[in-house]
Amino acid sequence: MQVYLVGGAVRDALLGRPVGERDYMVVGGTADALLRAGYTPVGRDFPVFLHPQTKAEYALARRERKTGPGYHGFVTEFSPDITLEEDLLRRDLTINAIAQADDGTLIDPYGGQADLAARVLRHVSPAFSEDPVRILRVARFAARFASLGFTVHDSTLALMRQMVEDGEVASLVPERVWQETERALGEPRPEVFFEVLRACGALAVIFPEVDRLFGVPQPEQWHPEIDTGVHVMMCLARAVALDAPVTVRFAVLGHDLGKGVTPKDQWPRHIMHESRGLPLVDALCSRLKVPTAHRELARMACAQHTNVHRALELRPETVLKLLGECDAFRRPERFSEMLLACQCDAQGRMGLEEKPYPQRAYLERARELAAAVALDEADRAGLEGQAIARELQARRQKVLEEHKRASGAVASH
Ligand code: ATP
Ligand code: MG
Repeated sequence: MQVYLVGGAVRDALLGRPVGERDYMVVGGTADALLRAGYTPVGRDFPVFLHPQTKAEYALARRERKTGPGYHGFVTEFSPDITLEEDLLRRDLTINAIAQADDGTLIDPYGGQADLAARVLRHVSPAFSEDPVRILRVARFAARFASLGFTVHDSTLALMRQMVEDGEVASLVPERVWQETERALGEPRPEVFFEVLRACGALAVIFPEVDRLFGVPQPEQWHPEIDTGVHVMMCLARAVALDAPVTVRFAVLGHDLGKGVTPKDQWPRHIMHESRGLPLVDALCSRLKVPTAHRELARMACAQHTNVHRALELRPETVLKLLGECDAFRRPERFSEMLLACQCDAQGRMGLEEKPYPQRAYLERARELAAAVALDEADRAGLEGQAIARELQARRQKVLEEHKRASGAVASH
């Protein structure tokens, strides 16, 4: 029985990056032998075992045969005669198909080290096309490693395109699409995930609402980059630069979906794209079973981003209405995240990346000031129900008028 370190740990060590979890492959072994040696079995689909002390994952070398469409259409074999090369052959990318023996020797039958040096994401074998999850994985690795100079090899992109044409992407389950998307949004270049999916045609299948944005023009005055798809990708890059969490990055992805359905005769203007976007955000989120927190924030950014951009010109009354619609008094953190998404929108434009966005601090402060207004016993005396609410509203409005004056904002009209 021989044991090899495989996958991400070998790759990351060769790249000089911090190594996360360590996965091992066992050649010439059996489940019984591992159980007898004290390993704990885990996982439903494949026999994976946890080392009795280190708790690292050990998997038996496997061989796969395709029997039907999708990633359940496999028969997987485990037997002691399966070689290291056979197991590595069914892995996705050459850079992920390097094994290391415990004496440090690298076993690299598919040129993984050369591709690491050349910064290439390349499939190991034609068997790549048997599992559509690999399309998502390649796009995600591209998003992770683009800043190191990695790109997807032409032959791999061509294979991915063929898989899309063959309808393989349709068999992806929503949970898996979301899982990969969420991880991709957290990578250093999330926009690359969507660009790679677009380059192979998968974006139109998985995210038609996003795909549709490419080729849709916006007014050059506000959007020097013109193309809406390009704008949204720039917003994602901006979200990374501003250290935005994944929820905000997802909201950024969804904020302009409405521009994809503006009637062409209205281009390049997009009146009402905020309200037109909401059903699209909902459709995307329902289809992919996106968690509620992500959906709520994306809906809010979609509905409110134009109002937020106008914050300094809004009448205090309208600012209060905005705070109310955003449930900002009860959910201040979510409101802050929405403001951050709006900043990503404002700065995700060609040449405007560093343009100050005072709207965010202005509305943060407006929320704080309005939230601090309270009615005590004496204030409430003689008032009830609606009258109390009106009094609170009036006082908050006064505070916001003062805030507007102090901020030197444009006089209300
Ligand atoms: P990470 O740093 O994200 O953990 P990783 O390369 O270790 O990256 P894992 O998802 O942990 O990725 O998978 C471990 C290894 O298993 C991969 O390096 C790859 O060789 C292989 N692998 C995982 N999923 C697939 C798949 N769907 N098709 C082919 N090979 C896969
Ligand atoms: Mg891993």
